[in-house]
Amino acid sequence: MSTQAALNAKRRRLFLMGVLFGMAVGLATAFWLGGERHRTARIASGSMAPTLYGPHWQNICRDCGFTWRVGQDIAPDRERFVCPNCGYAQNDLQDAGVQRGQQVDLHSGSYKNRRPQRGDMVAFRKAAQKKATPWAVKRIVGLPGEQVSIQGGDLYIDGAIWKKPWQLFQRQAVLVHDSRFSPQLHPANKPPLPLRWRPRNDGPRNDDPSWRFERGRYQYAPPTDAENAREFHWLVYHHWLCSEIPQLRTKEAAILDGFAYNVGPARQLQAVTDVVLECELTVQGEGEIALELRTVNPPLTCKISAPAGQVTLLVDNNPFHTFRLPPGSLVGKHVFTFGVLDRQAVLALDGVLQCSPELPNSSQAPKSLQSKLLAAEPFQIGARGVALVVGRRRILRDVYYLDPLRLGRDWSTKEPLSADVFFVLGDNPPLSIDSRQPNVGPIHRQQIVGQVHLAPQ
Ligand SMILES: [Zn+2]
Repeated sequence: MSTQAALNAKRRRLFLMGVLFGMAVGLATAFWLGGERHRTARIASGSMAPTLYGPHWQNICRDCGFTWRVGQDIAPDRERFVCPNCGYAQNDLQDAGVQRGQQVDLHSGSYKNRRPQRGDMVAFRKAAQKKATPWAVKRIVGLPGEQVSIQGGDLYIDGAIWKKPWQLFQRQAVLVHDSRFSPQLHPANKPPLPLRWRPRNDGPRNDDPSWRFERGRYQYAPPTDAENAREFHWLVYHHWLCSEIPQLRTKEAAILDGFAYNVGPARQLQAVTDVVLECELTVQGEGEIALELRTVNPPLTCKISAPAGQVTLLVDNNPFHTFRLPPGSLVGKHVFTFGVLDRQAVLALDGVLQCSPELPNSSQAPKSLQSKLLAAEPFQIGARGVALVVGRRRILRDVYYLDPLRLGRDWSTKEPLSADVFFVLGDNPPLSIDSRQPNVGPIHRQQIVGQVHLAPQ
């Protein structure tokens, strides 16, 4: 057998194992072991990814070294895999490790004395199923009496946007780009790939010597001439399409809701507004730093004064929220997370949420061509007066919820949920089969077996 034929046979075998174990595509089914109250199981599909992973390949990009997972729910429709971090298109599953589904704990007594809550992960059985059949794991989003709808990738409950708790966002977020992994394989005789983060130089200056790039970090030193020092100097993130077509690999584009875990049929991808930038910053001296997000129009800016830590959030230069960070927040290196989540401007320091005010109504998802071009540079980091070191930078996006046909259209339940009936969704909307689809539909409390948590792996 040729190497390729052997590889294909291996892939088919692995895939069949995945299907037999999973029983049904899209249902995070699981077999439970152990006692009545507390049991463990392995997740068998990717419908709850990235919160819970089913059986998957663990890929390491040959170019940038980034690790990502490819689910085994659907047989891969291609031989080569594009790295979601750098767009290198020649990655092969041959090198990749096969991983079992993640282990979860089921607490069957969890709803004896309390009602299931929005955000809970639950195991449930389909109405027609007998006790011995595998159960599905999904997340509760709609409670009895509520109307659930999906608009622009966000969930609405009785017409009001669901503001996802910060801790839940941290578990569900999809990693879009990590600056720690940059392409290394590029041939020396070709023009170098552009840097993802570059000082803004589209003004009168051809280059901005105040930013210096060294060993993955950017160091900003304020210019010595007084006039130049009064302006913000920006470091800009350029998002790549990461297309498998080599010429389009580095094409700049808005952040879309593609998820490299899913290898199913191509679908129309949606531009995502709810994204955050997580960056390690070390600030010294007196002045200001700024974080700016351009997936909304007009852009959303967060200015932080140093050393006082006074925070001002602005849209179109109009402040709409101010507060002061805890004392010492700007001493030494800290991780700042800033962005938009469910129509809130969020700022976290070392993982702890500091504020989440609602966005002003003027700030909208981009519609015009000009604002879509802005969205290809979704984030920039600015400094004025201070010395700044920018370390690791990661960009993450929220789940983009889709209608039952996954077309990105607005959608709503026809009527409020009945008494004791809950609406459940998977965290991986393109793959999940859940209450959106008529073959599952909303579930009755009696179908719920208990609450599910990720077990220590
Ligand atoms: Zn890569």
